[in-house]
Amino acid sequence: MTKRILITGAAGFLGSHLCDRFIKEGFHVIGMDNLITGDLRNIEHLFHLERFEFFHHDVSKFVYVPGKLNYILHFASPASPIDYLKIPIQTLKVGSLGTHNLLGLAKEKKSVILIASTSEVYGDPLVHPQNEDYYGNVNIIGPRGVYDEAKRFQESITMAYHRFHGLDTRIVRIFNTYGPRMRLNDGRVIPAFMGQALRGEDLTIFGNGKQTRSFCYVDDQVEGIYRLLMSNYHEPVNIGNPNEVTILEFAQEIIKLTGTQHKIVFRELPQDDPMQRQPDIARAKKLLGWEPKVGREEGMKITFEYFKNLSKEDLFKHEHKDFSKYNNR
Ligand code: UDP
Repeated sequence: MTKRILITGAAGFLGSHLCDRFIKEGFHVIGMDNLITGDLRNIEHLFHLERFEFFHHDVSKFVYVPGKLNYILHFASPASPIDYLKIPIQTLKVGSLGTHNLLGLAKEKKSVILIASTSEVYGDPLVHPQNEDYYGNVNIIGPRGVYDEAKRFQESITMAYHRFHGLDTRIVRIFNTYGPRMRLNDGRVIPAFMGQALRGEDLTIFGNGKQTRSFCYVDDQVEGIYRLLMSNYHEPVNIGNPNEVTILEFAQEIIKLTGTQHKIVFRELPQDDPMQRQPDIARAKKLLGWEPKVGREEGMKITFEYFKNLSKEDLFKHEHKDFSKYNNR
């Protein structure tokens, strides 16, 4: 029997790559997205398939899916600091109400459910690298709090459904991940630098660039998620690439890769921007036999090819996506 999987956030960066992977694995994939930050172009190549369906729906409202569901992957959420500022209430709702709805659906359908959590649950971490036992250092009421706290609540309610209702749950803590289909204007550092290089603008570093991140290529991330789903482990697992770099070094790598003649300029550091971030992946290695395979140089080359092939119209669509019609209901 063909296995059926619901993927929320299907038109987003990670969601769309997950749709591809589960189609490839022979699943019947039901994609769901409200398209606030997602883009149907990321999954339009799947629409002709009989094993693919798409529901345009906001999971913060009651979720109905007909038929059997073996698996649910909850990947719907804004995922960039600029988005949290523009749509803070939707960010809170999709992580809390949305997760509650999907856990209810999983209970009803007896599905295995995996929820996408984040390294943001560690906040601006005081422990380095971050392992899953670290409780984090989050500013609850800061600009990133709407995301961080929604994700922390999401983990908490997922464990409660596991313990109280015996639901078969998984929690992945995703560290910075990149690759084709990232939204060009979402404000995140990789699309920002790529867009700037392609438009012939200076690269904007926030703060002095000494803050660190560890970037994971999307195919590695998807492999980790796939293995976690197929495991029977209920506690959170970090998936990310431990290769850490300062943002300044990273900008220099991008200058080399893109051949841009432009320079680096420094801008104000956003509030609560974590100073360091690196996953401890010992748990994923031990439990899933997983570790990343794609180095930054190779992954960035593929990613640059993607951005280079975007249309001029996309590239120069400077303004950030207009969320005003959603009006923070
Ligand atoms: N950043 C930067 N210039 C930009 C965009 C981001 O220097 O144009 C910095 C940002 O301040 C942060 C890092 O790059 O320290 C990663 O930012 P991103 O928004 O990609 O992800 P997150 O902060 O959630 O890891």
